[in-house]
Amino acid sequence: MDIARTPATPDGNPEMADAAIQPKAPPEIRREDYKPFPWLVPTIRLTFDLALDKTRVTARLEIERNPAAEAERTIRLNGDGLQLESLSCDGNESTDYRMDGDDLLVTLPGERHSLEIVTVIDPSANSQLMGLYASGGMLCTQCEAEGFRRITFFPDRPDVLSTYTVRMSGPKALFPVLLCNGNRTDQGEEGDTHWAKWHDPWPKPSYLFALVAGDLVARSDSFTTINGRKVELNVYVRDGDLGRTEHAMESLKRSMRWDEEVFGREYDLDLFNIVAVSDFNMGAMENKGLNIFNTKYVLADPETATDGDYDGIEGVIGHEYFHNWSGNRVTCRDWFQLSLKEGFTVLRDQLFSAQMGSAPVKRIEDVRVLRGVQFPEDSGPLAHPIRPDSYREISNFYTATVYNKGAEVIRMMRTMAGEEAFRRGTDLYFERHDGEAATCEDFVRAMEDGADLDLAQFRLWYSQAGTPKVAARLTHEGQTATLTLTQTVPATPGQPDKQPMPIPLSLALFDRESGNHAGDELVVLDSETAQFSFDGFATRPVLSINRGFSAPVSIDRDVPRDELVFLAARDDDPFARYEAMQELMTGYLVGSVSGELDDAERDAARGDIAQAMRAVIEDSALDDLMRGELMVMPSQAYIAEQMLIADPGSIHAAREALKADVATRLADPLHALYERAVQVPFALDAEAKGARKVKTLALSYAAAGDPATASGLAAQQYDRADNMTDRQGALMVLAGLDSAERTGRLLDFYNRYQGNALVIDKWFALQASSLHPHAIEHVKSLREHEDFALRNPNRVRSLYMAFASNPGAFHSADGEGYRMLADLILELDPINAQTAARFVPALGRWRRIEEGRAELMREALQRIAEAPKLSRDTYEQVTRSLG
Ligand SMILES: [Zn+2]
Repeated sequence: MDIARTPATPDGNPEMADAAIQPKAPPEIRREDYKPFPWLVPTIRLTFDLALDKTRVTARLEIERNPAAEAERTIRLNGDGLQLESLSCDGNESTDYRMDGDDLLVTLPGERHSLEIVTVIDPSANSQLMGLYASGGMLCTQCEAEGFRRITFFPDRPDVLSTYTVRMSGPKALFPVLLCNGNRTDQGEEGDTHWAKWHDPWPKPSYLFALVAGDLVARSDSFTTINGRKVELNVYVRDGDLGRTEHAMESLKRSMRWDEEVFGREYDLDLFNIVAVSDFNMGAMENKGLNIFNTKYVLADPETATDGDYDGIEGVIGHEYFHNWSGNRVTCRDWFQLSLKEGFTVLRDQLFSAQMGSAPVKRIEDVRVLRGVQFPEDSGPLAHPIRPDSYREISNFYTATVYNKGAEVIRMMRTMAGEEAFRRGTDLYFERHDGEAATCEDFVRAMEDGADLDLAQFRLWYSQAGTPKVAARLTHEGQTATLTLTQTVPATPGQPDKQPMPIPLSLALFDRESGNHAGDELVVLDSETAQFSFDGFATRPVLSINRGFSAPVSIDRDVPRDELVFLAARDDDPFARYEAMQELMTGYLVGSVSGELDDAERDAARGDIAQAMRAVIEDSALDDLMRGELMVMPSQAYIAEQMLIADPGSIHAAREALKADVATRLADPLHALYERAVQVPFALDAEAKGARKVKTLALSYAAAGDPATASGLAAQQYDRADNMTDRQGALMVLAGLDSAERTGRLLDFYNRYQGNALVIDKWFALQASSLHPHAIEHVKSLREHEDFALRNPNRVRSLYMAFASNPGAFHSADGEGYRMLADLILELDPINAQTAARFVPALGRWRRIEEGRAELMREALQRIAEAPKLSRDTYEQVTRSLG
């Protein structure tokens, strides 16, 4: 599954209702309590009589004792809000059964039985969007993690693997297309009704089950695998959206080829279907042979999608496709192992996107997401290891830690082993565990055996939460440079004491005069402190460390600013160069906000930043995609993360002031950059994408320095735009300005794209995240807009996620932003608990915020906690946040 991604680039903008309402303090589920399920369910036959408001589900389960588990006389079949119509065991209706909460317990006297269960469900009343639900007249499913229990009674856990055979029938007019996992084996008609039979030959856990019925059209194509299997490919969308599916289809074919070439993984069915759905909690879902996607990650054309949207689609299509092996053929034993499939698959999609586009830029974007979302998670009340030890609601653990840090952990193994040995490790993993429900430990062992690594101590990365900090100090004497590295892993909730972890750090030592270095070195810091010596330096070299972001740690290198200026201009590792620019700006902003710098020091620092920025703007050896990365300011969240207690208001003000200062000092080079970029005609290649990126960046700097001129330029860019990237970029700048051009363009944008949900999402997000002084009022009136819909997760996120990351508006000193978010969470929780709970972390960092706002954030959380009824999802997030 893919969580709805956080935008990686600053010029872009941003996953049986009553059944989910639980009594307070739902039970804690612990990893150490895992036991194999006492029964096996080798086959299941499902019959669906489909209707929007009343679907009858008949499930026939063949059950036998699990020889690997302790024997039990009853079988626990999970249910969630289900209405049981009938139950029979081996054809006998007087079966011995009872309910335990929502679960069904059936007594089974023998070794082998056949159970038939009939349930009736109402997909149109399913606003949680888990299980089988109606979305705009079609029916679709989302079963990961625990949605299948909302369809029928079943051991809904990932270590019970079954072969599925499905017969679905429904009115032809309403549901002309009937889709399920695997291959279609038969179909037919009876009057107004038609039916289809599907069979998936690959045993799978229930969370990978999927069904779609609706009025859809397909873009069709085919792919021939490396061993000559011809696979039929379809991307299903609503009539009218077909013209926006080419990029998705091409991304799919590239993914299939790439996984063969890079990981040796071949597709294993004759059919691969993708369906786009507009009401979806997550980004997309890897159901076997039938991936279901949020429309956001399928539909694109230049008129309606930004460059960031194109990249997002390619990445998510790749991610879900790669799950066919890392997730489906080898699945997870239990949900504590989620990072086994997600961390590994995120790494795979990152490597894929890096190869399809600019690898350095992709790496920087990945690190920006990690730092913007995962680092704060790791230092806050919701911190957890990539393999958690307990949970109350598993939906809350689809986190940046499990996904993005999980990917970094596997990437470190790859860095230490080298690409070839890493491939031997992954080959062994797939070979050993194909068809199994595996654990993170299985992956680590396969890596040890296949890649010949000793990962005994490295396992700490799976069990310890918190972002390690590494202090790097370089001394020089005679011909020798000595690097002293010291690590600390901060305490996190439930983990007061930490062990030192192995941290692979790629580094280079630059000769200041020549600007060269003798090559990259990889050192592994595996104790609290260690020294490394390097000979042959007549003068003190300049240290470049954590090159390529070789480890997910934060580095504290106490170096003079001129060394950062040197690296920002000269470092040959693109990430390290970006890092030097970031550090230059972060150092100034943190020093400035905390009052550590006097006026003279501030002026000197701003001068150095402007000098470094000028070098970046004028460096003809740089491509514009990379130039854009070097020009981006550190995010509000990242700056706050560098401070023990942050004052969001002061950080925001200091950051805007620095932007204005750079814009004033570099007005001419920025203008020249803008004028050059404007000349590049639209294309989807790297050069044109780079030009669009620096164009809007130059504009956003100008908006801070000279708003009147910027407003005119932005209006012109908006009016002349022949693509969404330029139009959205211009509107983003305008939305933040109190100018005459603003209102007309916002209205034009709305009128132009009315009815196109994904673009209207952008319209909401642009205003909610804007720098405009009245943004908070704009959010309030957008909440009342006729196009706002609480039941559509994309729309809710587009308004409120954008708002929660708007430092000026959300952190309004009177607490109004916090009250608005708490109101939303309380209103949304009974409708869609999963989505509601995802807004809690924005309030959860109160301990790291200055006193006045901290109290207001805590009050907002407290008010949610005191609500008479809360879902498991929100209850868990709020109580952990209050601590
Ligand atoms: Zn995934």
